Amino acid sequence: MNGDHSTQECDYYRAEIAPVLPPRVLDFHTHTWSAGNWKEKPWQTDKSGGRYMVTDELYPPEQLLEDGRTCFPDRDYEAVCFGYPTPAVDWEKDTAYVAAAAREHRELWPLVLAGPDLGIPRERYERALDEGGFHGFKVFLNWYGDAYGDKRVEDMLGPAELALANERRLVVMLHVPRSGRLADPEIKAGIQWLAAECPQAAIVLAHCGRCYLPSEMKAAIGCLHDLPNVWMDTSMVMDPVVLQIALNEIGPGRLLFGTDFPVAAMCGRRVRVMDHWVDVVRTGYPPSAFRVAGDDIHAGPMVWEIVLAIRWAAELTGISDDERAGIFYDNGMALLRRIATG
Ligand SMILES: [Zn+2]
Repeated sequence: MNGDHSTQECDYYRAEIAPVLPPRVLDFHTHTWSAGNWKEKPWQTDKSGGRYMVTDELYPPEQLLEDGRTCFPDRDYEAVCFGYPTPAVDWEKDTAYVAAAAREHRELWPLVLAGPDLGIPRERYERALDEGGFHGFKVFLNWYGDAYGDKRVEDMLGPAELALANERRLVVMLHVPRSGRLADPEIKAGIQWLAAECPQAAIVLAHCGRCYLPSEMKAAIGCLHDLPNVWMDTSMVMDPVVLQIALNEIGPGRLLFGTDFPVAAMCGRRVRVMDHWVDVVRTGYPPSAFRVAGDDIHAGPMVWEIVLAIRWAAELTGISDDERAGIFYDNGMALLRRIATG
């Protein structure tokens, strides 16, 4: 989001958003990147899925923090951040970029990209964790777009990643594959396998296991009942019913507020139309899959819609104000503080 809000947007923030936020906000899912760290631009290739999520080619940490301040002008903003987890990435450059961002900005909590397809030896991960100040892994996605129909969780982390995650009690941020999302039996089994392989790690399912729709969450959530080391971040989840189902089934302690900046800096809302999500946005953003643009809508940043979804889910499930505040800061900070160093 660039520039200042209109008076109307400021009034909306003060009336609807600010009252549910604690003094400090921890955003558990953000990116920072530069196309200088990529081997190619996905949308300039002919590869399938290359135009799935078209973004700015430069999203430096200063812009990330500026977006956080713009969305939460009267709160302290901190963020868990990581690079560009697609086949385009140059791991060494991306790792150095994210480490430098966190060195320069104390509000940032960095994760390093990890996965067997990257071919990184254990010793190189250890050096990155020790020298880069990383708090865990963002699991590498070795595909473009939504071409992940046959992928398995078991193929996304290898022996080196699993051992380090467990020994160092790392955060393991995972974007689950397959069109069935967290409700897919293969994925449920994969998450159960991962939770058992590294019981000391804090496994975080990005985008609530990609359950953006109530039907998806309803079919998925049961598998997390007996997995106390698995959390979910709310990035790009804007449907209150999705979060109501999650709160009813696993309670507030395992939900972490997240945005997916820069994506959620767009003004608009992710909505459900029949059986898929659609991003309804104001004009001026590049064309992308499932993105519909128009100027005859009032819209603030998508980030506010995520906050509103949490607000309504909290109200409908009757969790306490402290439990709601925990989703925005304390739940995530507890994971970052439990990480052993060295
Ligand atoms: Zn993301």
